Formats: sequence, structure tokens, C-alpha cells
Amino acid sequence: MNLTIDELHKLYASGDARPSEITQAVFARIEQTNNRLNAFLTVNKDAALRQAAAADADIKAALQTKPLAGIPVAVKDNLCTTGIRTTCGSRILGNYLPPYTATAVAKLEAAGAILVGKTNLDEFAMGSSNENSAFGPVRNPVNEDYVPGGSSGGSAVAVAADLCSVSLGSDTGGSIRQPASFCGVVGLKPTYGRVSRYGLVAFASSLDQIGPFGKNVKDVARTLGVIAGRDRYDATSANESVSDYVGALTGDIKGLRIGVPPECFGEGLDAEVKTSVEAAIKKLQERGAEVVEITLPHSKYVVAVYYLIATAEASSNLARFDGVRYGLRAEEARTLSEMYQQSRDQGFGAEVKRRIMLGTFALSSGYYDAYYEKAQRVRQMLCNDFAKAFQKCDLIATPTAPTPAFKLGEKVNDPLAMYLDDIFTVTINLVGVPAISVPCGVSSNGLPIGLQLIGNHFDEARLLNAAYAYES
Ligand code: GLN
Repeated sequence: MNLTIDELHKLYASGDARPSEITQAVFARIEQTNNRLNAFLTVNKDAALRQAAAADADIKAALQTKPLAGIPVAVKDNLCTTGIRTTCGSRILGNYLPPYTATAVAKLEAAGAILVGKTNLDEFAMGSSNENSAFGPVRNPVNEDYVPGGSSGGSAVAVAADLCSVSLGSDTGGSIRQPASFCGVVGLKPTYGRVSRYGLVAFASSLDQIGPFGKNVKDVARTLGVIAGRDRYDATSANESVSDYVGALTGDIKGLRIGVPPECFGEGLDAEVKTSVEAAIKKLQERGAEVVEITLPHSKYVVAVYYLIATAEASSNLARFDGVRYGLRAEEARTLSEMYQQSRDQGFGAEVKRRIMLGTFALSSGYYDAYYEKAQRVRQMLCNDFAKAFQKCDLIATPTAPTPAFKLGEKVNDPLAMYLDDIFTVTINLVGVPAISVPCGVSSNGLPIGLQLIGNHFDEARLLNAAYAYES
């Protein structure tokens, strides 16, 4: 299960392995490790084994037409799956069975993938450590005393611990890239609108985007090619044509201009992360890229802006969980408003409540101008900073996170410290551009470090190729 898609496909083509054997091996591994790692909330064993057995028969033909034929995949448990429990890591949706499947998941299945299960996450994707799940934290397979990052921690761990080949996460402010960096795998947040959000339970609709985790850049490129594209069920999905992302991986980056913003290499950055990321940028230079200095002058506001806009949108999106339409309903309530209050009180965890209150406050009359509207203005200034930077460079390089993974429990009681961990990732969602995290080293205590490469809107092909050149 440490094999890449190409390697598995070679085994299928030669007849040395069949999808059902690989899928059985996956479940054996999940059964061995999941009680410690807690990466999966639901396993889809019976259906997956049935699907795999059906795939065995014509796998050689399928390899010609289906890019993910016989490939075991896992998806974050905020992606709806017909008839498979979708919890969002929350008690309020503890027994929720969606009546439809998210477009991205349906596309994986149409491409031949085998869905092995639904992965653990911070409740409603709110968090940076996976400690906010109502179903317990996920552990980092590199060192189980450490967090895997969040909020797509389960999806990152599923790939890192060889419990699937590729997985899907969602990224509102770093939730794919930061856990990828903490677990030593590749993770991509596509351009806003590149992948349909239909069937992704909304956290902050103007920031949310679905993207893949993989063991290498090529697997991520291939999976993006499968899930990308316009979807009539998501009006914000873009009508841009989908490039051949795998074909774009030439490794040739001669003349590529890489912008390095000094704002991302200053105070608060762990010394080992700094050294690794700078060395990675050197490597890109050795392969023919040119480094240019750029500036992102509004960087110091990004965490504040993100935590106003994301919480404002979340407070609105989460109003639908009222005990009437979905999931948990408080039993003891005597009146309608008691029912709302008690259902939400019992159903939501502390971090979700904190965000609903922050967001409601930021949107309230009298404070709207001072907080929400001001945050939107600064968001536009950040967009302008990036537009200016992309006149001088093709890609931007920064660390993915300011530190390697931290210990379980280390930051749970200090939300502000936790929020600051998102300093290099949230900007990307506010601006809507794509970014990838690729492993670029390990700290002295053996924890992975990630390099973040950022592209211009819809420039995933070039972004993936640069990541591939570095990885090679
Ligand atoms: N860590 C950020 C937050 O807590 C981002 C989460 C995400 O991308 N879903 O909001």
C-alpha cells in the first residue's frame, strides 16, 4: 500500500495483483492501525470489496479508460456519500445519511476508484490539529504523540500511513496543505471554482475548496484531473477547461520566475522550517528557476481577516443545523426555541460554538462596518498584492506552516496560538489562488516539513510541474 497509482496500475496490467487483493490488504491495514490513528470514522468495507471484485474481471480494459481504475481512495467525512454516514466530525450529524453524493466523490468513482471509507476531521472542518473532532483526535503516523494537522487530518493520515492511495480533503484556510505538511505527503488546494463544491458541507462558502492528497505530485495531478471541471450543481464552479495535469509534468522549469516574499520568512518562523524551505528554493534555482523578490505588504492582517470572514460565513452556514432538518434533536425540550437551543448546545462542540459566536458578532448591526466590512476591504487589498506579485513572478514559494507538527494537547487550550499556525495558508483561500504543499525535509526530531508553492488563478498545471520538478 505504499505504492503510487502508476505502480499499482503496473501490477494490475501485468496480472501480478488484482483490485480485490489490494482492497483486502487495505482493510487489513486499516483494522490493524485505526484504533490508534483514528483516521477513519466509517469504513466502507462491504461495498468496497464488492466493487473491487467486480473490477477484477475487466481491470486491463479499465486501465485504458479509467484513470483511477482499482485505486483505493478515502474521502473526508464532510463530503456527502449516498447512504454512507456523513458526520462532519460532529455529534449534530452523528447519524446523518445523505440522500446524494458529492460531485467530486461521484467523479472519483466514475474514474474507477474504490471508496474505502470516510476520514476523521475537525468538527465542520474548523481546526488545525484534528483535536476538535467529536470522535476523538487523529494521531500523526510519523510520531503518534504529535497531531497530524487539520482539519483534513484523517485524509492526510490515510495516505501517509498507507491506508489508501489518494484521498480528498477540503481546504478553507489550509486544511489540505497544513496536514499534508505535518504528515509528509503532497496536498493541493485548487483554485476557487476549479472543483465543484456540490455535496461538500459548507464551512465558509467563499473560501472552501476540495482537493487531493497523494504520495507524490503525479498522483495528485491525476486526481485533480478527475475531480476538476464545471458542474451544473455548483454555480461557483468555473467554466475553465481542465488541463492535462499529468501531461504537464515535464520537470522542465527553466526560466520559471519564483517570487519569495520576505514577509513569510521573518519572526515566528521555526529555524529548521526556514532552513529547509530556503534549501528547497535553492534546489528549484539549480533546476533553472529564477528567484525574484516580491512583497505581500498586507500579510500581517491575514489571520485577523480570515478569522472574521470565515466565522461570519460559518455562523450563517451553520444556522441550518437546528434540530429540525438534520441529525440530532434534543429530547427534553418543551418549546420550539428550547428545542433549537438544546439541539445546538448538545450537538456542537466548543470550537464550533466559539466560531458561531464570533461570526454572529462580526455580522451584527453596529459592528458589521468595523469588522466584517473592513475585513472584506482588506481581503481586496490582499488580492491586489497578489495580482501585483504575479506581474513579477509565475509562482510564489513560502513555508506551508510556521512549525512542524506540535504535540497533541499542546495548543488545544489556546485558540489564538492555534489560529496563528494558519498564517501562511489562509491568505491563499482569501485570494482564491491554488497552492500545493510538498515535503521538503524533516526536523531534527524527525517531523516532516512542507514547502508551499502558490500559483495564479487556474495555473495548476504550472504549479504541479514546479512541485514535480522539486520532488524529482
Ligand atoms: N485551520 C483553519 C481553521 O481552523 C482552516 C480550516 C480549513 O481549512 N478547513 O479555520
